[in-house]
Amino acid sequence: MRKVYLDHAATTRLNEEVLKEMLPYLTEHFGNPSSIHSYGRKARAAIEEARERVATALGAAAEEIIFTSGATEANNLTIRGIARALREKGNHIITSAVEHHAVYDTCLALQKEGFDVTILPVDEYGMVSVNAVADAITDKTILVSIMLANNEVGTIMPIAEIGKLCRERGIPFHTDAVQAIGNIPVNVDNLNVDLLSLSAHKFYGPKGVGALYLRKGTRLSVYHHGGAQERKLRPGTENVAGIVGLGKAIELAVKDLEPKANRIRALRDKLQEGLLAIEHTKLNGHPEQRLPGNLNVSILYVEGESLILSLDLKGIACSSGSACTSGSLDPSHVLMAMGLDHQTAHGSLRFSLGVDNTEEDIDYVLKVMPDIVARLRSMSPVYQGGSK
Ligand SMILES: *Cc1c(COP(=O)(O)O)cnc(C)c1O
Repeated sequence: MRKVYLDHAATTRLNEEVLKEMLPYLTEHFGNPSSIHSYGRKARAAIEEARERVATALGAAAEEIIFTSGATEANNLTIRGIARALREKGNHIITSAVEHHAVYDTCLALQKEGFDVTILPVDEYGMVSVNAVADAITDKTILVSIMLANNEVGTIMPIAEIGKLCRERGIPFHTDAVQAIGNIPVNVDNLNVDLLSLSAHKFYGPKGVGALYLRKGTRLSVYHHGGAQERKLRPGTENVAGIVGLGKAIELAVKDLEPKANRIRALRDKLQEGLLAIEHTKLNGHPEQRLPGNLNVSILYVEGESLILSLDLKGIACSSGSACTSGSLDPSHVLMAMGLDHQTAHGSLRFSLGVDNTEEDIDYVLKVMPDIVARLRSMSPVYQGGSK
C-alpha cells in the first residue's frame, strides 16, 4: 500500500544528512562539553558551531541562542522567566486565543498565580489584529507573546508590526516560530522580536531539542537550577548530538527556502482545490496569509477522527487539530476561537505537506477521499443533503 505522510506540522522525518552529522557525537565524540580535556572540548566545539548555525539562520548573534529540549521548554522559559524578572514592573501579559498549548497553558497557569492575562481574540481566519494588541497594552504590560504562524490553520500573524509596537512601548515581545522555520523567512530583526522559540523536529531535525533566541539585554529569570550550562538559563548536560542535529537541520531548512516553499505550495493548492470540490467542505485559516504546506479543511457531516482512521487504513497520515489535543473530544481551541461551530470544528482535517511529498501523493489522496467521505456521511444521522 502507498504511504503518504501529510502531518509535517506534528513532526518530520529526520534528514539523512542531519543524522550523519549527529552520529559521531553519540559514539566517538561522547565527551561532556563541560569537561576540559580533549573529549569535552570536541563536544563543546560542536555545540558552539551549532549555535553559530542557528544564529546565522535567524540573523542573530551566537550568544543570543539558548539550547533547550524543544519549543515547549523555550516557551515556558520565556513566559515564566520574563514574568519573574519583571514582576516588580508589572503583572500584565498579552497573548492570543490561538497559541500552542505550550504558550496558552503557561499563561493560564500564571493567571492562576495572580498575573493579569489578556487573551486576544482572532478573526474568522485565525488572525490577531495589530490594533487589538495596541489597545490591550497598559503600563503594567511586561510581555506580549504571539505566535508567528499557527500550527493548526497555518495563519501567519503580523509579527513585525506587533513587534514594532512593543518596541516603541519597551515591552519584551516573544514569538513561537516553530511552524515558520523552513517554511517562511524568519529573521529576528525584521520581525522585531526579543524572544523566539523553535523546535528541531519540525524542520527535519531530531526530537527533544530546540532553542530560544534571547535578544541581548532582555532580562530573564532562571527557571531551573543545577548548572552553568546555557548561561545558567538552561542548566543540565547538553544534548550534544541533538544540538548538532538542530544546527545542521536549520542550516538546511533555510537553504533554497523559496523554491522549496513554492513547490510545496503548488502541491498544497492542488490538494486544496480537489478537497474543496467535494460538497459541504470549507477552508479553515487565512486564504493567503498562510503557511505554504498547511491545509485545514472542514468536511461537514463527518467526524474528523473517523476520517483520520479511514485515511490511515489507506496509508495516509494527517490530523485533526493538533497532535497534542487529538485523543480528547474537545474541539480545538483554535477553531473555536475562529468562531467555528462545534460541528464544523469536529469535521476539521489538517494536512501539512513537506519536502518529500509528490504530485502522486496528492493524486492518491484525492482519489480515495470522495469515497471515504461518502461512506462516512451515509452513516451520519445529521447528513440529509447527500443522496446522490
Ligand atoms: C510543535 C509545536 C510546539 C512544541 O514543540 P515541542 O518540540 O513539542 O516542544 C510549540 N509550538 C508550536 C507552534 C508547535 O507547532
